[in-house]
Amino acid sequence: ARRPLIAGNWKMNGLRADGLDLARTLMAWLTGEGAAVQARADMLVCPPATLVAAVADAVAGSPLAVGGQDCHTTESGAHTGDVSAWMLKDAGASHVIVGHSERRTDHHEDDDLVRAKATAALAAGLTPIICIGETEAERDAGQATAVVARQFHGSLPEGATGTSVVIAYEPVWAIGTGRTPTAQDVAEMHQRIRAEARERLGDGADALLILYGGSVKPGNAAELMGIADVDGALVGGASLKAADFQAIASAC
Ligand code: 13P
Repeated sequence: ARRPLIAGNWKMNGLRADGLDLARTLMAWLTGEGAAVQARADMLVCPPATLVAAVADAVAGSPLAVGGQDCHTTESGAHTGDVSAWMLKDAGASHVIVGHSERRTDHHEDDDLVRAKATAALAAGLTPIICIGETEAERDAGQATAVVARQFHGSLPEGATGTSVVIAYEPVWAIGTGRTPTAQDVAEMHQRIRAEARERLGDGADALLILYGGSVKPGNAAELMGIADVDGALVGGASLKAADFQAIASAC
């Protein structure tokens, strides 16, 4: 059985006081009222790079995991403004998001670059959360599954296993819009991703976590998390409020 992962992507949000407060609230919840959730699922927060070390220090030894939102393809060097996977690991991270659609758009990241970043994450001892998902135009053109399958194969590192990486399916048009695909559409896409994973990972595909992301809220979490082959969520906006994020985790 796969242990679900509820991951919060804070994006470019959070100054020190608010970020630490949120992380500490979640940590306290997981060991108190949320203990039943902790017994069946993992929880992760991905703060902005400036807060990874402070948040990781604040929650060290607790069940709350910490991740980065992006990493460079190499360990160190002349890459002004970039953060390496090794630095995130050193700061206390266990995971790193790679290939988020906002990076694919804002920074023109393609599958080759995303794969190189995921490869670096593995080399540094982090679990990459590899994001894939179609645009609205691609869905309207009937290309959603083809695009997602192509992104999956293009972004998955050589040597990945079912337990060394996590996939997040995030339809671009559902991110921050309050719109979500139908349960049927989510089910079909996640089933397709697992089928593609089987080609690459064999039976390891059974262990692969495939998260859904895009406008996950307390009100739709139970339905989304109840879908076969949905193994958790990558939550943006709703992960910035402890009560909402906790409600989403409780639904899985
Ligand atoms: P929202 O939950 O705000 O739609 O963002 C989803 C997302 O992009 C998570 O990575």
